[in-house]
Amino acid sequence: MLESVTASPAIQDRAHCLIVGAGVVGLALAWELSKQGLAVTVLEREPECGQGASAAAAGMLAAGVEANAPGPFLDLCRRSSRMWRSWAEELRSDSGVDCELETCGLLRVTTRPESISDLEVRRAWQLTQGINVSELLSLDQLRAEVPGVSAMVAAGLLYPDEAHVHSHRVTQALELAARRHGARIETGVEVTSLKAEGDRVRATVPGRDLEGDLAVIAAGSWSGNLLAGLGVEASVEPIRGQIAAVCGAPGALPRIVFGDRGYVLQKRSGQVLVGATEEAAGFDAWPTLSGMERLSEIAAELIPALTGARFSNSWAGLRPHSAAGPLLGRVPTTDRVLLATGHHRNGILLAPVTADLLGRAVLTGTDPPELAAFSPRVAWSA
Ligand SMILES: Cc1cc2nc3c(=O)[nH]c(=O)nc-3n(C[C@H](O)[C@H](O)[C@H](O)COP(=O)(O)OP(=O)(O)OC[C@H]3O[C@@H](n4cnc5c(N)ncnc54)[C@H](O)[C@@H]3O)c2cc1C
Repeated sequence: MLESVTASPAIQDRAHCLIVGAGVVGLALAWELSKQGLAVTVLEREPECGQGASAAAAGMLAAGVEANAPGPFLDLCRRSSRMWRSWAEELRSDSGVDCELETCGLLRVTTRPESISDLEVRRAWQLTQGINVSELLSLDQLRAEVPGVSAMVAAGLLYPDEAHVHSHRVTQALELAARRHGARIETGVEVTSLKAEGDRVRATVPGRDLEGDLAVIAAGSWSGNLLAGLGVEASVEPIRGQIAAVCGAPGALPRIVFGDRGYVLQKRSGQVLVGATEEAAGFDAWPTLSGMERLSEIAAELIPALTGARFSNSWAGLRPHSAAGPLLGRVPTTDRVLLATGHHRNGILLAPVTADLLGRAVLTGTDPPELAAFSPRVAWSA
């Protein structure tokens, strides 16, 4: 049952918003709210910010390949995509950190001749949505875009507007920018429970309680742990993703190459990322040999020369997945606690729009209409 509140849950100037989790989502919201003059406290249990899924992300901003049909999710992705350039510029001027936004374009390729028709169907509906996508390209045409594309590739599409950023730099920039606008960010502090009490929210951390007018749970795959205390029976599941990084000459891979099972892309430093596995492995965020084997197969399917490149590093992270898609807005049991999670494969892409819409939800006391399709109240009403 919805808790009755005595005062408007809209946060007034200098009122206090608690944010649980300092990944890309929590930090983006902290930056947004602190810019608007709100007192914000971010609580992060790791010793440093951005160590969860956000640290593992390849950083692609790829609405054209991530949304599989027209609808609210595609609209959300595209809206965020359009925000990214000016967001990155503002972030650089607020933090001094360059997120390395590269609008290099993306080749969506397939090695399965029987999937060519799927690409054509995809292209047809995407054109009706105004998405910038090429005609179907042959292997020769794909190789003119990216030399070294595997002979296994049957055909592909070019999305010239897709981009990528350096995920670690993004969280670093967000932390600096939020702090610069007055956000308090405490690391090494785990929130063990969150409770709505009258017109306040109480967060319990080891040795003390903190109070706020509102709280936002942006705790990634761990968000479900805090819902039980709010009377919400729901969870967010971790989906492990592994990435292998190999050395490459800068500029060798001019576009992202995105296949049926994974992708390769090159960062400004020259490092090439091969990603990513999708595994239900509980809360184990450690790379495995079988994961590396799979990534090696993905590289061979896309750019075979990469399998002989020098191995540089590997890592894994836990994507916050919810069957209902992103969960953005007020929880079912109280107006004073909001959720910002479930971004699964797209938290970096969706950070600007999440901060914008959740920021408005906090400031006005009402979830904006654009969040209706992502409301936890709708997702968990059954
Ligand atoms: C291999 C891989 C590749 C990816 N590639 C892309 C990509 O190319 N593009 C893209 O857009 N997205 C990508 N993603 C997805 C993206 O990384 C996630 O969607 C995004 O990082 C989620 O951000 P978050 O802030 O919600 O979660 P997280 O980054 O996991 O942050 C949650 C934070 O909450 C903290 N926390 C949890 N519980 C508590 C508590 N009780 N108290 C205090 N703190 C707590 C955690 O320590 C953590 O720091 C990828 C993910 C992976 C794993």
